[in-house]
Amino acid sequence: MTATTMPHDVLERARQDYADRHVQSRALHLSASRVLPGGNTRTLFYHPPFPLTFVGGRESLLTDADGHTYVDLLGDYTAGLLGHSDRRAKDAAMAALEVNMSVGGIHPAEQELARLMCDRFGLDLVRFTNSGSEANLMAMTAARMYTGRSTIMVMYGAYHGGLMYFGNGPAPWNVPYPIVVGRFNDMAACQALITEHADDLAAVLVEPLLGSAGCVPATPHFLRGITQAAQAVGAVAIMDEVMSSRLGPHGLSAQHDVHADLKTYGKYIAGGFSFGAFGGTAEVMGLFDNGRPNSVPHAGTFNNNITSISAGVAVMSQVYTAEVASGFTARGDDFRANVAEVLRRYRLPLCISGSGTMMAIHARAECPIDGETAADKDAALQEILFLGLLQRGYYIAPRGMINLSLPVTDDQLAGFLTALDDLCGELAAA
Ligand code: PMP
Repeated sequence: MTATTMPHDVLERARQDYADRHVQSRALHLSASRVLPGGNTRTLFYHPPFPLTFVGGRESLLTDADGHTYVDLLGDYTAGLLGHSDRRAKDAAMAALEVNMSVGGIHPAEQELARLMCDRFGLDLVRFTNSGSEANLMAMTAARMYTGRSTIMVMYGAYHGGLMYFGNGPAPWNVPYPIVVGRFNDMAACQALITEHADDLAAVLVEPLLGSAGCVPATPHFLRGITQAAQAVGAVAIMDEVMSSRLGPHGLSAQHDVHADLKTYGKYIAGGFSFGAFGGTAEVMGLFDNGRPNSVPHAGTFNNNITSISAGVAVMSQVYTAEVASGFTARGDDFRANVAEVLRRYRLPLCISGSGTMMAIHARAECPIDGETAADKDAALQEILFLGLLQRGYYIAPRGMINLSLPVTDDQLAGFLTALDDLCGELAAA
């Protein structure tokens, strides 16, 4: 953690102002804390002095319990790609629910979504889960069964799910698989680890862009290198595209011409309904073919839930087609360049990293290149930035993450640049 450049009272005043303006959210936080640990059911939502409670939304806007409306630039950590009013995913889910609610058998929409995902992301075969966490667990299991080995290599700072969080390296709350932790974007160090653990290495699991650790993109050299190095020792290369598959027409790893054995998905694909998927080569995914002797089981009551699957068909075929994804990613690149331009005007330790419509503003002078450098920031300035933008009507993640949603307008993005400029000017003067 870097020592803060901000006078202490700037943060104190920002917190006080926040508390004064959000009386209802504070009351709701206190009452929720009596029945939910920390007042929430998703750990990352807590931040001091207390998190907001939202009671409404429309297109790219969110309304909190005190009646303040914000431009939603968080986009539910990428799951909210469609914004708050898109009818297409909802209508598809409702139409399916009119016919069947919980089928207890196979429904034709399953193969429809599977075909759309295989075509779009270059998969031979795919299976659905309820979340990205489960998708990664299944991919890791597939790799272990396929190779007969047990060790999984991940990157420091990576987030692959509730039980696979490597923000501080290995941790006791994670799945009890043997884990080796490499340094993101450091090919030489990762190659040495792969060589050292080659005999028992089942998989290398990598995000093409460290999402949770601050939208730190992998260099194409690293992503291709790590994939090939894993495959060279007989390990399965897994790309966690739970977030990054929204970037470019076929996902971020395809943009770098990376050919992983397995890839995992989730977030936006079911348009806001819970979803996950893992897929890849027929050789590895064929393990789950129950028609074969010794196949690997993959059960789950809601793997084929009709709401998510039907909404997913609408998202992939009508809403977020490859063409839309291409254009939207380019729009994100332009916006990120404009944010960088604003930040450059001030001598504050602030920078922006990311790819396409996923980005993060970091309270540090230089953009991070891996999980270690991303963690080293001015925590007080990061919090002041979040609170200051909120006060000006823009909702981003407390840690600085921004994910554009489809309904966001050019005027809203321009308004954000003005708000950021105003806030930076105020902080520079302080
Ligand atoms: N992988 C990545 C890269 C993620 O960002 C996330 C969620 N933030 C997950 C996996 C887990 O997905 P879920 O929250 O749907 O379990």
